[in-house]
Amino acid sequence: MLRIAVQSKGRLNEDTMALLGEADIKISSSKRTLLVCSKNFPLEILYLRDDDIPQTVADGVADVGIVGRNELVETGAEADVVRPLGFGACRLSLAIPKEEEYVGLEWFNGKKIATSYPRILKHFLDEHAISADIHVITGSVEVSTGIGLADAIFDIVSSGSTLVSNNLREVEVVMESEAVLIGNPLMSGYKREILDELLFRIEAVKSAEGKKYVLMNAPKDKVEQILAVLPGIKSPTVMPLADDTWCSIHTVLDEERFWEIIGQLKENGAQGILIVPIEKMII
Ligand code: ATP
Ligand code: MG
Repeated sequence: MLRIAVQSKGRLNEDTMALLGEADIKISSSKRTLLVCSKNFPLEILYLRDDDIPQTVADGVADVGIVGRNELVETGAEADVVRPLGFGACRLSLAIPKEEEYVGLEWFNGKKIATSYPRILKHFLDEHAISADIHVITGSVEVSTGIGLADAIFDIVSSGSTLVSNNLREVEVVMESEAVLIGNPLMSGYKREILDELLFRIEAVKSAEGKKYVLMNAPKDKVEQILAVLPGIKSPTVMPLADDTWCSIHTVLDEERFWEIIGQLKENGAQGILIVPIEKMII
């Protein structure tokens, strides 16, 4: 049995549970106790506050965990990053009141900065030889300047709208973060095998993300032109049709490029284009 620590509630919970669900790991959602066992995979889910996840994994109380890279770095816990997961993207930034003139990092010399991430901030300030007073608060960091608690803040930013509504301006990005799968460095061979199976499934889910399966009918004499338009696939499937002047082409397309490519396919005589979602992809 492999034990995974996940955020019990909060921003990473939904995407984490969705990822496990897409990997076909069934977890009873009614029984929301601290520790829940999957019904069809040798995995136990340990629900924790995100602050506690890195150390729990480093101590081996959980074998793996899903947490923001920012939390892992802040705690300094000795856990390995096994795989970035592509959700929970944000950055840790320094922000100052918007009316302040920003002259560069020296602005922070002698200033008081409120943050929940003192370790990352101290490291950054030391690295740039800036001497500032770090004031640790655990929540509502963004209001600190407005209430006269600090001159600046160091906090998580994603869209930046919280900063704007608190009259703050982002002036330095210190760290980019996203959710990562972390692991205990001393995991047993048996647990590592379960982790490999879990990773295999995550890989299949992630590979399918943003991809569509596309089928179309095409005049045989246009196949070459059509294949030239289709990007990045090893070898598309070309199948005969009852009418031997036509064939059927199947391929995988990136959702992002999709409309642009479909237009070119139509120009080359493709018809009956079907676009089908892909659940998992094993490359
Ligand atoms: P907990 O109760 O588990 O301690 P929390 O309040 O400390 O939760 P959340 O706000 O749920 O934490 O954020 C969890 C993680 O989500 C952050 O550490 C960060 O990695 C990521 N994240 C992504 N975007 C944002 C955002 N806009 N604001 C805050 N966190 C974000
Ligand atoms: Mg927290």
